[in-house]
Amino acid sequence: MPEFDYDLFVVGGGSGGVRAARVAAGHGASVALAEEYRVGGTCVIRGCVPKKLLVTGAAFAEDLRDARRFGWCVPDCSFDWPMLRDEVQAEVTRLEDLYRDTLARNGVRAFHQRAQLTGPHEVELADGSRHTARTILIATGARPEMPVFPGADLGVSSNEVFHFAQLPRRVVIAGGGYIANEFAGIFNRFGAAVTMILRGGEILRGYDADVRARLLEISERKGIAFRFHTAFERIEQRADKTLIVHTDKGDPIHADAVLFAIGRRPNSAGLGLEALGVEIGRTGAIAVDEDHRTRVPSIFAVGDVTDRKQLTPVAIREGHAFADTQFGGRPTRVDYGCVPSAVFSHPPIAAVGLTEAEARERHGIVKVLTADFRPMKNALAQRDERALYKLVVSGVTDEILGLHMIGPDAPEILQAAAVAVKAKLTKAQFDATVALHPTMAEELVLMR
Ligand code: NDP
Repeated sequence: MPEFDYDLFVVGGGSGGVRAARVAAGHGASVALAEEYRVGGTCVIRGCVPKKLLVTGAAFAEDLRDARRFGWCVPDCSFDWPMLRDEVQAEVTRLEDLYRDTLARNGVRAFHQRAQLTGPHEVELADGSRHTARTILIATGARPEMPVFPGADLGVSSNEVFHFAQLPRRVVIAGGGYIANEFAGIFNRFGAAVTMILRGGEILRGYDADVRARLLEISERKGIAFRFHTAFERIEQRADKTLIVHTDKGDPIHADAVLFAIGRRPNSAGLGLEALGVEIGRTGAIAVDEDHRTRVPSIFAVGDVTDRKQLTPVAIREGHAFADTQFGGRPTRVDYGCVPSAVFSHPPIAAVGLTEAEARERHGIVKVLTADFRPMKNALAQRDERALYKLVVSGVTDEILGLHMIGPDAPEILQAAAVAVKAKLTKAQFDATVALHPTMAEELVLMR
Protein backbone atom coordinates (compact mmCIF):
# COMPACT_ATOMS: atom_id res chain seq x y z
CA MET A 1 0.00 0.00 0.00
CA PRO A 2 1.42 3.41 -0.90
CA GLU A 3 1.86 5.77 2.02
CA PHE A 4 -0.33 8.44 0.41
CA ASP A 5 -3.28 8.47 -2.00
CA TYR A 6 -1.39 10.81 -4.35
CA ASP A 7 2.11 12.14 -4.83
CA LEU A 8 0.67 15.62 -5.38
CA PHE A 9 -2.64 17.28 -4.52
CA VAL A 10 -3.13 20.67 -6.15
CA VAL A 11 -5.69 23.05 -4.68
CA GLY A 12 -6.78 25.48 -7.41
CA GLY A 13 -7.22 24.92 -11.14
CA GLY A 14 -5.89 28.17 -12.58
CA SER A 15 -2.80 28.86 -14.65
CA GLY A 16 -0.26 27.89 -11.98
CA GLY A 17 -2.14 24.88 -10.60
CA VAL A 18 -2.99 23.30 -13.94
CA ARG A 19 0.58 23.71 -15.19
CA ALA A 20 2.03 22.18 -12.04
CA ALA A 21 -0.44 19.27 -12.14
CA ARG A 22 0.16 18.54 -15.81
CA VAL A 23 3.95 18.68 -15.60
CA ALA A 24 4.12 16.67 -12.37
CA ALA A 25 1.88 14.01 -13.95
CA GLY A 26 4.16 14.04 -17.00
CA HIS A 27 7.06 13.26 -14.68
CA GLY A 28 5.18 10.18 -13.50
CA ALA A 29 3.59 11.55 -10.32
CA SER A 30 0.06 10.54 -9.33
CA VAL A 31 -1.79 13.84 -9.17
CA ALA A 32 -5.18 15.13 -8.02
CA LEU A 33 -6.52 18.65 -8.37
CA ALA A 34 -9.48 20.35 -6.69
CA GLU A 35 -11.20 23.40 -8.19
CA GLU A 36 -14.40 24.79 -6.68
CA TYR A 37 -15.31 26.98 -9.67
CA ARG A 38 -14.42 26.68 -13.34
CA VAL A 39 -11.11 25.19 -14.51
CA GLY A 40 -8.82 27.80 -16.03
CA GLY A 41 -8.66 30.31 -13.21
CA THR A 42 -8.81 34.08 -13.38
CA CYS A 43 -6.87 34.36 -16.63
CA VAL A 44 -9.07 32.13 -18.72
CA ILE A 45 -12.44 32.58 -17.02
CA ARG A 46 -12.58 36.22 -15.91
CA GLY A 47 -9.31 37.92 -16.69
CA CYS A 48 -6.73 38.09 -19.46
CA VAL A 49 -8.61 36.08 -22.09
CA PRO A 50 -12.13 37.56 -21.98
CA LYS A 51 -10.62 41.02 -21.34
CA LYS A 52 -8.39 40.79 -24.41
CA LEU A 53 -11.36 39.71 -26.51
CA LEU A 54 -13.29 42.77 -25.30
CA VAL A 55 -10.27 44.97 -26.09
CA THR A 56 -10.22 43.49 -29.58
CA GLY A 57 -13.96 43.97 -29.98
CA ALA A 58 -13.76 47.57 -28.80
CA ALA A 59 -10.92 48.39 -31.21
CA PHE A 60 -13.31 48.07 -34.15
CA ALA A 61 -15.00 51.29 -33.05
CA GLU A 62 -12.01 53.34 -34.18
CA ASP A 63 -10.97 50.99 -36.97
CA LEU A 64 -14.38 51.33 -38.62
CA ARG A 65 -14.15 55.11 -38.38
CA ASP A 66 -10.55 55.18 -39.65
CA ALA A 67 -11.41 52.84 -42.53
CA ARG A 68 -13.29 55.72 -44.17
CA ARG A 69 -10.05 57.68 -44.43
CA PHE A 70 -8.63 54.69 -46.32
CA GLY A 71 -11.36 54.80 -48.93
CA TRP A 72 -13.85 52.37 -47.50
CA CYS A 73 -17.52 53.25 -47.55
CA VAL A 74 -18.53 52.22 -44.05
CA PRO A 75 -22.21 52.63 -43.33
CA ASP A 76 -23.28 53.77 -39.89
CA CYS A 77 -22.54 50.83 -37.64
CA SER A 78 -24.06 49.88 -34.35
CA PHE A 79 -22.65 47.72 -31.63
CA ASP A 80 -24.40 44.69 -30.16
CA TRP A 81 -23.07 44.16 -26.60
CA PRO A 82 -25.06 40.97 -25.82
CA MET A 83 -23.64 39.38 -28.95
CA LEU A 84 -20.01 40.15 -28.09
CA ARG A 85 -20.56 39.24 -24.45
CA ASP A 86 -22.01 35.85 -25.37
CA GLU A 87 -19.41 35.11 -28.05
CA VAL A 88 -16.66 35.87 -25.53
CA GLN A 89 -18.26 33.58 -22.96
CA ALA A 90 -18.57 30.81 -25.56
CA GLU A 91 -14.85 31.12 -26.25
CA VAL A 92 -14.13 31.02 -22.52
CA THR A 93 -16.14 27.81 -22.25
CA ARG A 94 -14.23 26.31 -25.17
CA LEU A 95 -10.92 27.10 -23.49
CA GLU A 96 -12.16 25.78 -20.16
CA ASP A 97 -12.98 22.48 -21.88
CA LEU A 98 -9.44 22.37 -23.28
CA TYR A 99 -8.05 22.85 -19.78
CA ARG A 100 -10.22 20.02 -18.47
CA ASP A 101 -9.08 17.82 -21.37
CA THR A 102 -5.44 18.60 -20.58
CA LEU A 103 -5.90 17.42 -17.02
CA ALA A 104 -7.75 14.28 -18.09
CA ARG A 105 -5.26 13.45 -20.85
CA ASN A 106 -2.42 13.68 -18.37
CA GLY A 107 -4.14 11.41 -15.89
CA VAL A 108 -4.81 14.11 -13.30
CA ARG A 109 -7.82 13.25 -11.13
CA ALA A 110 -9.96 16.40 -11.00
CA PHE A 111 -12.42 17.12 -8.19
CA HIS A 112 -14.87 19.92 -8.86
CA GLN A 113 -15.23 20.93 -5.25
CA ARG A 114 -13.75 23.26 -2.69
CA ALA A 115 -10.85 21.79 -0.73
CA GLN A 116 -9.25 22.65 2.56
CA LEU A 117 -6.23 21.27 4.34
CA THR A 118 -6.77 19.12 7.41
CA GLY A 119 -3.13 18.10 7.85
CA PRO A 120 0.28 18.65 6.31
CA HIS A 121 -0.49 15.73 3.98
CA GLU A 122 -4.29 15.75 4.00
CA VAL A 123 -7.02 17.54 2.08
CA GLU A 124 -10.73 17.50 2.84
CA LEU A 125 -13.18 18.12 0.02
CA ALA A 126 -16.58 19.78 0.33
CA ASP A 127 -18.28 16.36 0.16
CA GLY A 128 -16.42 15.35 3.35
CA SER A 129 -14.03 12.94 1.64
CA ARG A 130 -10.40 13.08 2.73
CA HIS A 131 -7.38 12.51 0.51
CA THR A 132 -3.72 12.26 1.41
CA ALA A 133 -0.73 13.38 -0.63
CA ARG A 134 3.02 13.47 -0.14
CA THR A 135 3.02 17.07 -1.39
CA ILE A 136 0.26 19.68 -1.46
CA LEU A 137 0.36 22.71 -3.74
CA ILE A 138 -1.80 25.76 -3.04
CA ALA A 139 -2.59 27.64 -6.26
CA THR A 140 -5.82 29.37 -5.33
CA GLY A 141 -5.07 32.73 -6.94
CA ALA A 142 -6.50 36.05 -5.85
CA ARG A 143 -9.81 37.86 -5.89
CA PRO A 144 -10.78 41.50 -6.40
CA GLU A 145 -10.44 43.72 -3.38
CA MET A 146 -13.77 45.43 -2.65
CA PRO A 147 -14.02 48.65 -0.66
CA VAL A 148 -16.26 49.25 2.32
CA PHE A 149 -18.41 52.39 2.40
CA PRO A 150 -22.17 53.03 2.18
CA GLY A 151 -23.52 51.67 -1.08
CA ALA A 152 -20.25 50.04 -2.16
CA ASP A 153 -22.17 46.82 -2.78
CA LEU A 154 -23.92 48.59 -5.67
CA GLY A 155 -20.61 48.45 -7.54
CA VAL A 156 -19.11 45.42 -9.26
CA SER A 157 -15.65 43.92 -9.69
CA SER A 158 -13.94 42.69 -12.84
CA ASN A 159 -15.58 39.31 -12.16
CA GLU A 160 -19.03 40.68 -13.00
CA VAL A 161 -18.14 43.16 -15.69
CA PHE A 162 -18.04 40.50 -18.40
CA HIS A 163 -21.68 39.62 -17.73
CA PHE A 164 -23.44 43.00 -17.81
CA ALA A 165 -27.00 42.52 -19.08
CA GLN A 166 -26.77 45.81 -20.94
CA LEU A 167 -23.89 48.01 -21.92
CA PRO A 168 -23.74 50.84 -19.36
CA ARG A 169 -23.88 54.32 -20.88
CA ARG A 170 -22.02 55.90 -17.96
CA VAL A 171 -19.33 54.04 -16.04
CA VAL A 172 -17.42 55.09 -12.95
CA ILE A 173 -14.18 53.17 -12.41
CA ALA A 174 -12.34 53.16 -9.10
CA GLY A 175 -8.55 52.77 -9.26
CA GLY A 176 -5.82 53.68 -11.70
CA GLY A 177 -4.07 50.34 -12.23
CA TYR A 178 -4.18 47.66 -14.91
CA ILE A 179 -7.85 46.75 -14.75
CA ALA A 180 -9.07 50.34 -14.40
CA ASN A 181 -7.18 51.57 -17.46
CA GLU A 182 -8.01 48.54 -19.56
CA PHE A 183 -11.74 48.79 -18.91
CA ALA A 184 -11.69 52.59 -19.27
CA GLY A 185 -10.40 52.03 -22.82
CA ILE A 186 -12.96 49.30 -23.52
CA PHE A 187 -16.02 51.25 -22.31
CA ASN A 188 -14.82 54.49 -23.86
CA ARG A 189 -14.68 52.86 -27.29
CA PHE A 190 -18.07 51.28 -26.76
CA GLY A 191 -19.32 54.85 -26.42
CA ALA A 192 -19.81 55.04 -22.65
CA ALA A 193 -18.97 58.12 -20.61
CA VAL A 194 -16.13 56.97 -18.33
CA THR A 195 -15.04 58.66 -15.11
CA MET A 196 -12.04 57.31 -13.22
CA ILE A 197 -11.73 57.96 -9.52
CA LEU A 198 -8.25 57.64 -8.04
CA ARG A 199 -7.18 57.98 -4.45
CA GLY A 200 -3.73 59.23 -5.51
CA GLY A 201 -2.29 61.49 -8.17
CA GLU A 202 -1.08 59.02 -10.76
CA ILE A 203 -2.12 56.13 -12.94
CA LEU A 204 -0.23 52.85 -13.27
CA ARG A 205 2.30 53.40 -10.54
CA GLY A 206 5.41 51.38 -11.33
CA TYR A 207 5.38 52.09 -15.07
CA ASP A 208 7.68 54.66 -16.64
CA ALA A 209 6.56 58.23 -15.96
CA ASP A 210 6.67 59.43 -19.59
CA VAL A 211 4.68 56.46 -20.85
CA ARG A 212 2.07 56.94 -18.13
CA ALA A 213 1.83 60.63 -18.92
CA ARG A 214 1.23 59.80 -22.59
CA LEU A 215 -1.58 57.38 -21.73
CA LEU A 216 -3.19 59.96 -19.47
CA GLU A 217 -2.99 62.62 -22.17
CA ILE A 218 -4.48 60.34 -24.85
CA SER A 219 -7.16 59.00 -22.50
CA GLU A 220 -8.27 62.53 -21.57
CA ARG A 221 -8.34 63.49 -25.23
CA LYS A 222 -10.61 60.52 -25.91
CA GLY A 223 -12.99 61.87 -23.29
CA ILE A 224 -12.16 59.74 -20.26
CA ALA A 225 -12.53 61.93 -17.14
CA PHE A 226 -10.05 61.56 -14.27
CA ARG A 227 -10.65 62.63 -10.69
CA PHE A 228 -7.40 62.39 -8.76
CA HIS A 229 -6.97 62.55 -4.98
CA THR A 230 -10.62 61.65 -4.62
CA ALA A 231 -12.35 59.29 -2.20
CA PHE A 232 -15.75 57.64 -2.50
CA GLU A 233 -18.25 58.69 0.17
CA ARG A 234 -21.34 56.75 -0.80
CA ILE A 235 -23.28 55.36 -3.74
CA GLU A 236 -27.03 55.60 -3.88
CA GLN A 237 -29.43 53.86 -6.19
CA ARG A 238 -32.39 55.65 -7.71
CA ALA A 239 -35.78 54.12 -8.41
CA ASP A 240 -34.79 53.61 -12.06
CA LYS A 241 -31.76 51.55 -10.86
CA THR A 242 -29.23 54.15 -11.97
CA LEU A 243 -26.56 55.16 -9.48
CA ILE A 244 -25.34 58.41 -7.99
CA VAL A 245 -21.73 58.37 -6.83
CA HIS A 246 -20.83 60.85 -4.10
CA THR A 247 -17.17 61.62 -3.54
CA ASP A 248 -15.30 63.99 -1.25
CA LYS A 249 -14.66 66.34 -4.19
CA GLY A 250 -16.70 67.66 -7.06
CA ASP A 251 -20.28 67.09 -8.10
CA PRO A 252 -22.00 63.73 -7.65
CA ILE A 253 -21.61 61.51 -10.71
CA HIS A 254 -24.59 59.81 -12.33
CA ALA A 255 -23.72 56.33 -13.52
CA ASP A 256 -25.17 53.08 -14.75
CA ALA A 257 -22.32 51.00 -13.36
CA VAL A 258 -19.45 51.37 -10.92
CA LEU A 259 -16.43 49.11 -11.34
CA PHE A 260 -13.99 48.66 -8.49
CA ALA A 261 -10.46 47.87 -9.69
CA ILE A 262 -8.37 48.57 -6.63
CA GLY A 263 -6.12 45.52 -6.52
CA ARG A 264 -6.46 41.81 -5.91
CA ARG A 265 -6.08 39.90 -2.63
CA PRO A 266 -4.63 36.41 -2.32
CA ASN A 267 -7.19 33.65 -1.72
CA SER A 268 -5.58 32.14 1.34
CA ALA A 269 -8.43 32.30 3.88
CA GLY A 270 -10.54 29.29 4.82
CA LEU A 271 -8.01 26.73 3.61
CA GLY A 272 -6.91 25.64 7.08
CA LEU A 273 -3.40 26.95 6.45
CA GLU A 274 -2.79 28.98 9.62
CA ALA A 275 -3.71 26.03 11.83
CA LEU A 276 -0.98 23.99 10.13
CA GLY A 277 1.64 26.68 10.67
CA VAL A 278 1.79 28.09 7.14
CA GLU A 279 2.89 31.73 7.33
CA ILE A 280 0.46 34.22 5.82
CA GLY A 281 1.38 37.88 5.39
CA ARG A 282 -0.67 40.96 6.12
CA THR A 283 -2.28 41.05 2.69
CA GLY A 284 -3.11 37.34 2.82
CA ALA A 285 -0.10 36.30 0.75
CA ILE A 286 1.33 32.86 1.53
CA ALA A 287 5.02 33.20 2.37
CA VAL A 288 7.23 30.84 0.35
CA ASP A 289 10.93 30.39 -0.35
CA GLU A 290 12.62 30.35 -3.76
CA ASP A 291 11.36 26.81 -4.32
CA HIS A 292 7.77 27.86 -3.46
CA ARG A 293 7.87 25.92 -0.19
CA THR A 294 5.91 27.28 2.77
CA ARG A 295 7.05 26.94 6.34
CA VAL A 296 5.43 23.46 6.35
CA PRO A 297 7.80 21.25 4.31
CA SER A 298 5.08 19.30 2.49
CA ILE A 299 3.04 22.39 1.49
CA PHE A 300 3.97 24.64 -1.43
CA ALA A 301 2.28 27.61 -3.09
CA VAL A 302 2.55 29.29 -6.50
CA GLY A 303 0.86 32.11 -8.38
CA ASP A 304 -1.21 35.06 -7.20
CA VAL A 305 -1.85 33.52 -3.77
CA THR A 306 1.81 34.25 -3.01
CA ASP A 307 1.47 37.84 -4.32
CA ARG A 308 4.94 38.04 -5.86
CA LYS A 309 4.16 39.16 -9.41
CA GLN A 310 0.44 38.84 -10.15
CA LEU A 311 0.92 37.84 -13.77
CA THR A 312 -0.29 34.67 -15.51
CA PRO A 313 3.01 33.78 -17.23
CA VAL A 314 4.79 34.11 -13.88
CA ALA A 315 2.31 31.74 -12.19
CA ILE A 316 2.82 29.28 -15.06
CA ARG A 317 6.60 29.51 -14.68
CA GLU A 318 6.30 28.94 -10.95
CA GLY A 319 4.02 25.92 -11.39
CA HIS A 320 6.35 24.43 -13.98
CA ALA A 321 9.49 25.05 -11.90
CA PHE A 322 7.80 23.53 -8.85
CA ALA A 323 6.87 20.37 -10.76
CA ASP A 324 10.29 20.00 -12.40
CA THR A 325 12.03 20.48 -9.06
CA GLN A 326 9.85 18.23 -6.94
CA PHE A 327 8.91 15.51 -9.43
CA GLY A 328 11.21 15.77 -12.43
CA GLY A 329 14.61 15.62 -10.76
CA ARG A 330 15.41 18.96 -12.40
CA PRO A 331 15.84 21.67 -9.75
CA THR A 332 14.63 24.87 -11.38
CA ARG A 333 14.16 28.37 -10.02
CA VAL A 334 12.14 31.16 -11.58
CA ASP A 335 14.16 34.14 -12.74
CA TYR A 336 12.06 37.18 -11.85
CA GLY A 337 14.40 39.59 -13.62
CA CYS A 338 13.26 41.35 -16.79
CA VAL A 339 9.68 40.07 -16.72
CA PRO A 340 7.86 41.89 -19.51
CA SER A 341 4.41 43.26 -18.80
CA ALA A 342 1.67 45.04 -20.70
CA VAL A 343 -1.42 47.07 -20.01
CA PHE A 344 -4.07 46.57 -22.68
CA SER A 345 -5.22 50.13 -22.38
CA HIS A 346 -6.02 52.14 -25.45
CA PRO A 347 -3.36 52.53 -26.74
CA PRO A 348 -1.56 49.70 -24.96
CA ILE A 349 1.57 50.01 -22.85
CA ALA A 350 4.36 47.45 -22.70
CA ALA A 351 7.54 47.43 -20.68
CA VAL A 352 10.52 45.36 -19.65
CA GLY A 353 13.40 46.12 -17.32
CA LEU A 354 14.06 49.25 -15.31
CA THR A 355 12.19 52.52 -15.60
CA GLU A 356 14.29 55.63 -16.08
CA ALA A 357 13.86 56.54 -12.41
CA GLU A 358 14.86 53.05 -11.22
CA ALA A 359 17.87 52.98 -13.54
CA ARG A 360 19.10 56.37 -12.32
CA GLU A 361 18.77 55.22 -8.74
CA ARG A 362 20.57 51.91 -9.27
CA HIS A 363 23.06 52.67 -12.04
CA GLY A 364 23.78 56.38 -11.66
CA ILE A 365 24.79 57.27 -15.21
CA VAL A 366 22.10 56.38 -17.72
CA LYS A 367 21.29 57.49 -21.23
CA VAL A 368 17.68 57.82 -22.29
CA LEU A 369 16.66 57.67 -25.93
CA THR A 370 13.14 58.22 -27.12
CA ALA A 371 11.14 57.91 -30.32
CA ASP A 372 8.04 60.06 -30.23
CA PHE A 373 6.14 59.54 -33.46
CA ARG A 374 2.74 59.42 -35.08
CA PRO A 375 2.16 55.91 -36.48
CA MET A 376 1.59 55.95 -40.23
CA LYS A 377 -1.94 54.64 -39.86
CA ASN A 378 -2.83 57.40 -37.41
CA ALA A 379 -1.41 60.05 -39.74
CA LEU A 380 -3.59 59.02 -42.69
CA ALA A 381 -6.59 58.55 -40.40
CA GLN A 382 -5.96 62.10 -39.12
CA ARG A 383 -5.83 60.68 -35.64
CA ASP A 384 -3.67 62.95 -33.53
CA GLU A 385 -2.27 60.20 -31.37
CA ARG A 386 1.44 59.71 -30.93
CA ALA A 387 3.37 56.63 -29.87
CA LEU A 388 6.31 56.84 -27.49
CA TYR A 389 9.18 54.35 -27.23
CA LYS A 390 11.86 54.83 -24.64
CA LEU A 391 15.18 53.03 -24.21
CA VAL A 392 16.98 53.31 -20.89
CA VAL A 393 20.67 52.53 -21.41
CA SER A 394 23.55 52.15 -18.97
CA GLY A 395 25.98 55.05 -19.38
CA VAL A 396 28.77 52.74 -18.26
CA THR A 397 28.25 49.43 -20.08
CA ASP A 398 25.91 50.54 -22.91
CA GLU A 399 23.54 47.72 -21.84
CA ILE A 400 19.82 48.25 -22.42
CA LEU A 401 18.38 48.41 -18.91
CA GLY A 402 14.79 49.08 -19.80
CA LEU A 403 12.39 49.45 -22.70
CA HIS A 404 9.06 51.24 -22.35
CA MET A 405 6.49 51.65 -25.05
CA ILE A 406 3.04 53.05 -25.63
CA GLY A 407 1.45 52.78 -29.04
CA PRO A 408 -0.45 50.42 -31.33
CA ASP A 409 0.67 46.79 -30.92
CA ALA A 410 3.26 47.76 -28.28
CA PRO A 411 2.88 44.43 -26.41
CA GLU A 412 3.35 42.43 -29.63
CA ILE A 413 6.51 44.36 -30.47
CA LEU A 414 7.93 44.36 -26.98
CA GLN A 415 7.75 40.59 -26.50
CA ALA A 416 10.48 40.10 -29.13
CA ALA A 417 12.55 43.04 -27.92
CA ALA A 418 12.33 41.67 -24.36
CA VAL A 419 14.56 38.78 -25.48
CA ALA A 420 17.27 41.31 -26.32
CA VAL A 421 16.86 43.18 -23.04
CA LYS A 422 16.87 39.93 -21.06
CA ALA A 423 20.02 38.90 -22.94
CA LYS A 424 21.62 42.19 -21.82
CA LEU A 425 22.29 43.36 -25.35
CA THR A 426 23.82 46.79 -25.77
CA LYS A 427 22.59 49.88 -27.50
CA ALA A 428 25.39 49.38 -30.05
CA GLN A 429 23.91 45.98 -30.91
CA PHE A 430 20.49 47.53 -31.39
CA ASP A 431 22.12 50.16 -33.64
CA ALA A 432 23.89 47.44 -35.64
CA THR A 433 20.54 45.82 -36.48
CA VAL A 434 19.10 46.99 -39.80
CA ALA A 435 15.63 48.53 -39.58
CA LEU A 436 12.62 46.74 -41.01
CA HIS A 437 10.84 49.41 -43.00
CA PRO A 438 8.14 50.66 -42.81
CA THR A 439 7.15 49.45 -39.35
CA MET A 440 6.64 51.02 -35.96
CA ALA A 441 9.06 48.50 -34.47
CA GLU A 442 11.95 49.88 -36.56
CA GLU A 443 12.04 52.85 -34.20
CA LEU A 444 13.66 50.48 -31.70
CA VAL A 445 16.85 50.34 -33.76
CA LEU A 446 16.76 53.92 -35.03
CA MET A 447 16.86 55.83 -31.75
CA ARG A 448 19.99 58.02 -31.70
P1 NDP B 1 -3.44 47.41 -9.58
O1 NDP B 1 -2.56 46.99 -8.48
O2 NDP B 1 -2.91 47.41 -10.97
O3 NDP B 1 -3.97 48.87 -9.29
C1 NDP B 1 -4.68 49.14 -8.12
C2 NDP B 1 -5.19 50.56 -8.19
O4 NDP B 1 -6.12 50.75 -7.14
C3 NDP B 1 -4.10 51.59 -8.01
O5 NDP B 1 -4.43 52.71 -8.78
C4 NDP B 1 -4.18 51.90 -6.52
O6 NDP B 1 -3.81 53.21 -6.21
C5 NDP B 1 -5.67 51.77 -6.28
N1 NDP B 1 -6.02 51.38 -4.93
C6 NDP B 1 -5.46 50.41 -4.18
N2 NDP B 1 -6.08 50.29 -3.01
C7 NDP B 1 -7.05 51.24 -2.99
C8 NDP B 1 -8.03 51.62 -2.05
N3 NDP B 1 -8.12 51.01 -0.88
N4 NDP B 1 -8.87 52.62 -2.38
C9 NDP B 1 -8.77 53.23 -3.58
N5 NDP B 1 -7.88 52.91 -4.50
C10 NDP B 1 -7.01 51.92 -4.21
O7 NDP B 1 -4.75 46.51 -9.42
P2 NDP B 1 -5.82 45.95 -10.45
O8 NDP B 1 -7.00 45.63 -9.62
O9 NDP B 1 -5.99 46.85 -11.61
O10 NDP B 1 -5.16 44.61 -10.95
C11 NDP B 1 -4.72 43.64 -10.01
C12 NDP B 1 -3.49 42.92 -10.52
O11 NDP B 1 -3.87 42.02 -11.54
C13 NDP B 1 -2.46 43.83 -11.14
O12 NDP B 1 -1.57 44.34 -10.20
C14 NDP B 1 -1.78 42.92 -12.11
O13 NDP B 1 -0.73 42.27 -11.47
C15 NDP B 1 -2.86 41.93 -12.51
N6 NDP B 1 -3.41 42.29 -13.83
C16 NDP B 1 -2.59 42.23 -14.90
C17 NDP B 1 -3.05 42.57 -16.15
C18 NDP B 1 -2.12 42.52 -17.29
O14 NDP B 1 -1.06 41.88 -17.19
N7 NDP B 1 -2.42 43.20 -18.42
C19 NDP B 1 -4.43 42.97 -16.38
C20 NDP B 1 -5.21 43.03 -15.17
C21 NDP B 1 -4.71 42.69 -13.95
P3 NDP B 1 -2.32 53.62 -5.83
O15 NDP B 1 -1.57 53.76 -7.08
O16 NDP B 1 -2.53 54.90 -5.09
O17 NDP B 1 -1.80 52.52 -4.94
